[in-house]
Amino acid sequence: MKFDTAYSLSLDDKLSIYDVRDLNFDETADFDSDKDSFLCPNDACRAVFDADNVLSTFNAKNVNYLRTPHFKNKPGTRHIDGCRYASSQKTATGENDDEREDNFPSEFVLTRRQYERKTPVVGIDESVPQEPTKAPSNRFTTSHNDGDTTPDKTSVFAHPVECYVSNIDDKDKLKAMPLKIGEHTATYWAFFKKIEYLQDNKGLIYWGKIKEIKDYTSSFRIDFEKKVWLDKKPYSVNVYLSKKLIENYRKRSAFLEQIKAAASSERPLYCFFYGVTPQLKQVPSKKNPEQTFGVFSANIENLDHLIIREAPGME
Ligand SMILES: [Zn+2]
Repeated sequence: MKFDTAYSLSLDDKLSIYDVRDLNFDETADFDSDKDSFLCPNDACRAVFDADNVLSTFNAKNVNYLRTPHFKNKPGTRHIDGCRYASSQKTATGENDDEREDNFPSEFVLTRRQYERKTPVVGIDESVPQEPTKAPSNRFTTSHNDGDTTPDKTSVFAHPVECYVSNIDDKDKLKAMPLKIGEHTATYWAFFKKIEYLQDNKGLIYWGKIKEIKDYTSSFRIDFEKKVWLDKKPYSVNVYLSKKLIENYRKRSAFLEQIKAAASSERPLYCFFYGVTPQLKQVPSKKNPEQTFGVFSANIENLDHLIIREAPGME
């Protein structure tokens, strides 16, 4: 039994496992899932048991993962009768449901979810004068509207990507599940576009197998294996990750660990990104700087909307 969300005791809120991963890697967030307790998201069920009736996490902290991250029952986790999260409710097919993501968010929200700690931070000296107009400098500050906290929406890019990758063998499902991003609504199938077809439509989630990652130490370029054809000519495709973008990223350490490992990896890796569409550009040739050649390229603008991962079964 996988849980779409779990109740976090420290945040007093329901989180998806992708929210938990996002917080674990966020260097600006005072959060560690190993020090938190995750409880049944069913309010009626949770109210009956003590706070030690916890769930466990799977792949909450692995930078790289193959199997779908999730919350699950521990052997001793109890639920009330009728709680839909009780382990005894097997899937109809008897299939091991740990192997795919079946909670498809219907919207990928482009602004990041803010997690508000509802319990006061211990140790604030009340005698310290505070500017009245300034919110307390709690790291989990302002929460935007509550609608975004429903499990039906996510602001963590890894979540829709995991839905797509882990269900790639079930095209009917991907063609049936709706996904909204910004003003655009389509199906999961239509929103994910192979990189070689990027000219078909703008504003999609583009993905492709990585040919090479150029490591310039503080910046990177990801080259895709497939080429884009324009006027019967093939053009290489790449995305560029600037030094400034990486240095200012709140999940910088985890990101660098991942991309450096990927750059030297022998395993087939894929890159997914949203928010930019590579355009044809003329760049100077290395061998002969007077000459230029065409390449489809884009500068990534938001690292939250880029993923490098293994994705078996995608070819
Ligand atoms: Zn329960």
